[in-house]
Amino acid sequence: MSTMGDGTRAVRAGLPVPEQFEPPLPGPVFAAHFHLSGDPTGPYTYGRDTNPTWTHLERAIGELEAPGEEVETTVFASGMAAITSVLLSQVRSGDAVVLPDDGYQALPLVREQLEAYGVEVRTAPTGGDARLALLEGAKVLWIESPSNPGLDVCDIRRLVEAAHAAGVLVAVDNTLATPIGQRPLELGADFSVASDTKGMTGHGDILFGHVTCRDPRLTADVRRWRKIAGAIPGPMEAWLAHRSLATLHLRIDRQCTTALALAEVLAKRAEVTGLRYPGLPGDPSHPVAARQMRRFGSVVSFELADREAAERFLSALRLVDDATSFGGVRSTAERRGRWGGDAVAEGFIRFSVGVEDPEDLLADVEQALNAAAR
Ligand SMILES: *Cc1c(COP(=O)(O)O)cnc(C)c1O
Repeated sequence: MSTMGDGTRAVRAGLPVPEQFEPPLPGPVFAAHFHLSGDPTGPYTYGRDTNPTWTHLERAIGELEAPGEEVETTVFASGMAAITSVLLSQVRSGDAVVLPDDGYQALPLVREQLEAYGVEVRTAPTGGDARLALLEGAKVLWIESPSNPGLDVCDIRRLVEAAHAAGVLVAVDNTLATPIGQRPLELGADFSVASDTKGMTGHGDILFGHVTCRDPRLTADVRRWRKIAGAIPGPMEAWLAHRSLATLHLRIDRQCTTALALAEVLAKRAEVTGLRYPGLPGDPSHPVAARQMRRFGSVVSFELADREAAERFLSALRLVDDATSFGGVRSTAERRGRWGGDAVAEGFIRFSVGVEDPEDLLADVEQALNAAAR
């Protein structure tokens, strides 16, 4: 199974063995409890512990995260539920964790909470080697690569080797790449974590998250945390997520191809500075990204002169919605500085490329840049 192509794997991922008169992907199972007599054993007992719709999806995501390997996936109601399940199930007061200081904008909130529980939090940027010096005595190293929104990339294998040598567990937030863009477990990570709200489900209509581990003890910790926190996805969302996986390769391939084309167009514009796309050959992240990523993602970031120029550009776009989040089938863009919290310039734009016809999208971007320059 590990030799087949990503598309072939994606369309069949997690499907049960075909049965006469049954659908290929069974519909969502809505159940708070299951018939259960005698001792409470067996796969399905209570709806906060397990659900058959999750089981199909968890197998599907596992097949994409580590083809041909024995791994276990745990699905969650959101990316943040997945992230906190890893951190809060692993650390105890007195432990230390290493977080990026340029990662997802809720990480500073996570930091505050960890510190309130007596956990020491050490931070350093995604790019460069600063984190190597922070590993000694830590419990977990948290990696986000490419980072959101700055699109820096770090050498995951190298950090994993240093972390494991120091007895530190490694989790990778793989949201931006998705498992068909990058496979953290193959790069040595202990946890592959993602917000599947983004490219993984790709339609901007559900929140979702998952954690995949090779070590059954780590999976048990994460499942126990899900049970305690109750951060469980609804069966309808789980089913929609599974349905969306069948087009993952089509969506991501189109998005990545157009993202590179967009980056090439932007690179030629004098008013665009700070352009970042890990797939662009001249990008500082490209050499490392090319070694560890299989697809470079749907997000391109860049700067216009100031807040006003960025707002003029966004409002002149006709095919691109001004909205947050990324990875969806419809292109979106936003002035990231409007949220506060990210260390970005006022004119910084995070652009998420959808699956529109590339020539339409690129023409729209060019006319909006022209309009913004006036
Ligand atoms: C969106 C995002 C999250 C949070 O996911 P939710 O599904 O919104 O909870 C975490 N990490 C990254 C990199 C993200 O982009």
